[in-house]
Amino acid sequence: MDLARFGEDTGVLEETQVDRLFERSYVEPERAQQVLLWARELREAIHDVFWATMNKRPVPPGALARLNAYVQSAAGHMRLVPVKGGFEWGFDEYGDFESVLWPIARAAADLLASDQLPYVRACSSKACEWFFLDTSKNHHRRWCDMTRCGNRAKVQRFYARQKRKA
Ligand SMILES: [Zn+2]
Repeated sequence: MDLARFGEDTGVLEETQVDRLFERSYVEPERAQQVLLWARELREAIHDVFWATMNKRPVPPGALARLNAYVQSAAGHMRLVPVKGGFEWGFDEYGDFESVLWPIARAAADLLASDQLPYVRACSSKACEWFFLDTSKNHHRRWCDMTRCGNRAKVQRFYARQKRKA
């Protein structure tokens, strides 16, 4: 199921949660489909807001409104969870598919409202549309994920060179 994979890829879901969502998607395929549409809408809104910010363009009001709607929905499911020596923010128990969207919306909002925003980069891989937070010392990182996109880019360059040689 695409949505579960999306949750897995973005690292917001534990493996057991992914498994559970997979199982439920067979029981409730329509609900799964609906949430997948929301996930795409959310991803697009996040993309458009970050893209505009990175390119110093006016943020599209529609995209920001959509993102805010997901952020507000996520906030309605946030709770304080006791941890050693204090508390941390958590979400309601993962039950419905929709829960996949909460941490994504929240993470995007946190980043947009943080002083880390200038370090958000678009992945250099043309096949990839991910943004990532460049936490490297010199802020020269180019790929969202070295093993995935970095290597893919290297492989593509390698093939391009081989082709030219041939
Ligand atoms: Zn990438």
